Amino acid sequence: MNWKWLAALGATSLGASQVDLHRMAARFAPTEIGADLSRLPESERSALAKLIQAAKLIDALFLRQVWSGNESVLLDLSKDTSALGRARLQNFLINKGPWSTLDGNAQFIPGVPPKPPPANFYPPGASKEAVEKWIQSLDEPQRKLAIGFFTVLRWSPAGVGKFQVVPYSQEYQPELADIASLLKETAALTTDPTLRAFLIKRAAAFSSNDYYDSDLAWMELTSAVEPTIGPYEVYQDEWFNAKAAFEAFIAVRDEAETAKLSKFGSELQEIEDHLPIDAQLRNPKLGAMAPIRVVNLIFSSGDGNHGVQTAAYNLPNDERITKEKGAKRVMLKNVQEAKFKVVLVPTAQVALAPAEQNRVTFEAFFTHILMHELMHGLGPHVITVGSRASTVRQELKDSYSAIEEAKADISGLFALQYLIDKGVLAKSMESTIYTTFLASCFRSLRFGITEAHAKGIALQLNYLLDAGAFGTSPDGTFFVNASKIKAGVAALTRELMTLQAQGNRSRAMQLLSSLSVVRPPVQKVLDRLSHVPVDIEPKFKTAETLLSVAR
Ligand code: ZN
Repeated sequence: MNWKWLAALGATSLGASQVDLHRMAARFAPTEIGADLSRLPESERSALAKLIQAAKLIDALFLRQVWSGNESVLLDLSKDTSALGRARLQNFLINKGPWSTLDGNAQFIPGVPPKPPPANFYPPGASKEAVEKWIQSLDEPQRKLAIGFFTVLRWSPAGVGKFQVVPYSQEYQPELADIASLLKETAALTTDPTLRAFLIKRAAAFSSNDYYDSDLAWMELTSAVEPTIGPYEVYQDEWFNAKAAFEAFIAVRDEAETAKLSKFGSELQEIEDHLPIDAQLRNPKLGAMAPIRVVNLIFSSGDGNHGVQTAAYNLPNDERITKEKGAKRVMLKNVQEAKFKVVLVPTAQVALAPAEQNRVTFEAFFTHILMHELMHGLGPHVITVGSRASTVRQELKDSYSAIEEAKADISGLFALQYLIDKGVLAKSMESTIYTTFLASCFRSLRFGITEAHAKGIALQLNYLLDAGAFGTSPDGTFFVNASKIKAGVAALTRELMTLQAQGNRSRAMQLLSSLSVVRPPVQKVLDRLSHVPVDIEPKFKTAETLLSVAR
């Protein structure tokens, strides 16, 4: 069956047989996710075990938020011991519902409805128009509550056709009370004051429905154990993107990468001062960087664990906090590593010349991701066009995201080379960073070039091919041209940062229309990747061990 074809049609039912269900699930390779906790103090290890218990309760809330029928379908499936029933259950657990995310949310269990766009956040059976009209009729404080992150709308007992606003603290009261107790118990176990403050404030938020203080406390976490637990992302609300879905990521800090990050942080001004752009375009004084945490995931649940797995996230979404403090970026290193092994290595075996394949390393892959994040903060942002003060984002408009993503990638390579030349990074990385980036281009382009990051990748790949910095062998595989790659990377960094400094949208559009395309030699490689898994299905080994010890 051609899954992509089905997705393109927006298929409503797969009528999936056991064979189909196995093939669907096989796109997610079961992979152990965990971390070495031997250096974590006993107190923090018990806190971690308790947090996992709390996170487990998030799944039921998320299932109910997505669809009111989800929990009963899951109950039925878990009683079905037939092979077909077990295959359905496996896909249900991967997708957290009876719809396949990789197949345009097609149903794979007979008798279930199509995935409801309003999820379970709005009164069942109400039309979008009726809800919108009702919201518009409210006075300002009521309207704010109705469109807020942490409320659902329900039918009102006050009269036919009337709605009411119900806070999460009421709608999900019993489960939130249980989760809050576990968070308070965790607070009593940890010796870290920032973790204790977050847990106590988050437990209070579950009953007060006010998440502001606990979001602030989350920004200020400096603990070895790093939990993210609560209602966060709004993608499940396909009507208004207003309602937050429950999720949890329970993780521990990666000490080595955290140290690397702070080492890079102290080099950033020097890198800015040596960017391959005209001297007057460089920023003589970089501002403070938004916080970045590198962690290893121990357990995730709810919205944080279904379909294609999250490898990094920026939170909170509350604008009152992001305006003052920015957002914190959390990078899940072991999830990236699992994806690297399961998806990137086999992709490289198809895409790269044999001599190149042992130059694809996780070290190079992850170090480049870290540098990509940091490079978003370098280069032109606030600019002058004519005599008018403006920003790159305002001037580039619809071309901004793709250009900015490409800039972060390519200048990230430039920065890594700078640090290699300076002796901050090992000389051996010179032979891995470019090849690893080349392989990752194919991973990013596999599902088309619709979003900004993939557009940026296609732009870079074609630019570097045209510059002779990447090449194609007669057998159709790709390679890095060591004599031209450094110049190619510097030239493209200069090109993108200069057009950003000029606010030159027409140049940006010209680059995107000529280079953000999949050319035939690239497509040929992509066509040969169908056997490579799309993603991982995490198996939380460390969490299981922790819980069995705690029991
Ligand atoms: Zn980025």
